[in-house]
Amino acid sequence: MAEKSLKKHEFQAEVKQVLDIVIHSLYTDKEVFIRELVSNASDALEKLRYLQLTGKDIYDENLPLEINIRTDDKENTITFEDHGVGMTEDELVENLGTIAHSGSKAFLKAVEESGGVSENLIGQFGVGFYSVFMAADSVEVYTHNWDKSGKSLLWKSDGGGGYEIEAVQGERRGTKILVRLKEDAKEFSDPGRVKEVLARYSSFVQFPILLNGEQINKIQPIWMRSKGEISDEEYNEFYKFQADAFDDPIYRLHFSSEAPLEINALLFVPGENPERWGFGKTDPGVSLYCKKILIDAKPEGLLPDWLRFLKGVVDSADLPLNISRETMQDSALTKRIGQVITGRFIKMLEDELKKDAGKYEEYYKQFGIFIKEGVVSDFKNVGQLAKLLRYESSATEKGGLTSLDDYVSRMKDGQNDIYYLYSPGRDMIEAGPHLEAFKARSLEVLYLYEPVDEFVMTSLGKFEGKALVSADNADIGLGAAGPGEDDLAEADAKDLCGWIKETLGDSVNEVGVSGRLVDSPAIALNADKFMTPSMRRMMKAVKKDADLKYSVNLEINAGHKLIKNLSLLKGKDPETARLVVGQLFDNALIAAGYLEDPRSMVDRLYRILERVAEK
Ligand code: ADP
Ligand code: MG
Repeated sequence: MAEKSLKKHEFQAEVKQVLDIVIHSLYTDKEVFIRELVSNASDALEKLRYLQLTGKDIYDENLPLEINIRTDDKENTITFEDHGVGMTEDELVENLGTIAHSGSKAFLKAVEESGGVSENLIGQFGVGFYSVFMAADSVEVYTHNWDKSGKSLLWKSDGGGGYEIEAVQGERRGTKILVRLKEDAKEFSDPGRVKEVLARYSSFVQFPILLNGEQINKIQPIWMRSKGEISDEEYNEFYKFQADAFDDPIYRLHFSSEAPLEINALLFVPGENPERWGFGKTDPGVSLYCKKILIDAKPEGLLPDWLRFLKGVVDSADLPLNISRETMQDSALTKRIGQVITGRFIKMLEDELKKDAGKYEEYYKQFGIFIKEGVVSDFKNVGQLAKLLRYESSATEKGGLTSLDDYVSRMKDGQNDIYYLYSPGRDMIEAGPHLEAFKARSLEVLYLYEPVDEFVMTSLGKFEGKALVSADNADIGLGAAGPGEDDLAEADAKDLCGWIKETLGDSVNEVGVSGRLVDSPAIALNADKFMTPSMRRMMKAVKKDADLKYSVNLEINAGHKLIKNLSLLKGKDPETARLVVGQLFDNALIAAGYLEDPRSMVDRLYRILERVAEK
């Protein structure tokens, strides 16, 4: 019978890769496999408890929800048994033969990106079930899923190319994993050693863990305990356990409230923001419990999207126990819980900021992008979130950050607006023509380095009643500086402007004498209310090949030598003068970020060079 039902399977190629790395690396922390198997058993029990709550008809209904670990130092084995949901044949193939789950996927990607496996890569990522092959010669997984029509099955592998699945008889509900230990992993058949490994996190597991029949953990969820009795180490261990993480959290928030809602929450800001490493959008990481029972490990509708980086647990006694995940997502109650959490989290940031501004800036470097997301999407909290924004500015050092509040406190008498400039880097902003006029008048300008920042500014519109204004806007009235002593005479300047407009034609909106410029000969200013440079950049980002129009005014610096010479040249040598004007305009466009393909001007530059070389 066993003969007949035995099926051989190949591991998916990615699994082979993971196994190859896991088995052959020199990584010494083999013990992580215990944590992985216990956490899987715990997940399976949580799932079963949820099925019970929602009234499903369950096989072997009355088995205890606990995790049994047995060691055998004669046979050199360790066994993990749970009476959780178990697995069907398809699930065995899917879960233990392919990579669908997060840990191993992220792991492979990191290996690929770093161009090889370093020892601590395995340590940084949970490779889940497959980590068992660090310690195992072979593994047998006996299982029966929770459904009454389920079957008893055995999955077997030595971690080589494949695995076998066969039908067996008489399994109880759940999963039993028999690990036949490698010679150099014998230590895990010693109960003393196993107990030591379990000690670090077993108290976070919400089910009894029995080692050779003796319960080794107290079950008191950490989030229900009072702050005073929990050490930093314990908090950090819980974070690692709950978030499947290997770093330490930057911030944590532990609170309980009774009214208007009964909530116990323990939240963490991770040490790293994986979205910065290109791992795609993070799944929600705050689990929802009701009276210590897991309702949903990754609830979608609980917290606003911009808080998706948070990890931890929210437990609310007000949730109906039999709430289904689907109705939970859009229930008014869940939304209210989410609002309470969001408010508390923002408050925590405000407090932390006061306590240690440097640490907040470290946090901001990793997670500031989420504050920005909040500013543009969370209208309830936008006022508070705007105060948490940080930017470099013309008043800070390179790398130093300022808040909008501090900017406002430095505003000059008569200054009504908050100015900003976008460019990918500080040097580019400081070398460009737009800053000059502001610098000359000692007006502070915020430096924006990411396209999303402009979107944040436009969406915010105002801060403390002051308009947020891009410094490349043609409309800004900075007050004329007044003509300088050896500037071009007014009539000549007017004449020159007319001639430039005529030469450039429709490519320019207006040409005039600038009151802003100090060192640059000319500047291009945005003259289109709707299609601002930032709007163009955003639209370009969405549609790369879009041919987007712009409308600019050209302002010239009547005190600049080039402009004064040009005024003479246009009478003496109009052809050369036209070439110079064309180039002057293109330069202004480049400095303002309009001209994306400078190849178009190469030909003109050659012609100018030709004339220069003639002299
Ligand atoms: P993850 O836990 O991140 O999903 P693992 O590699 O640890 O990844 O486990 C893969 C999958 O195998 C789990 O998602 C689960 O579906 C299944 N699994 C593992 N162990 C058990 C178990 N003891 N009971 C039921 N299912 C299990
Ligand atoms: Mg797991």
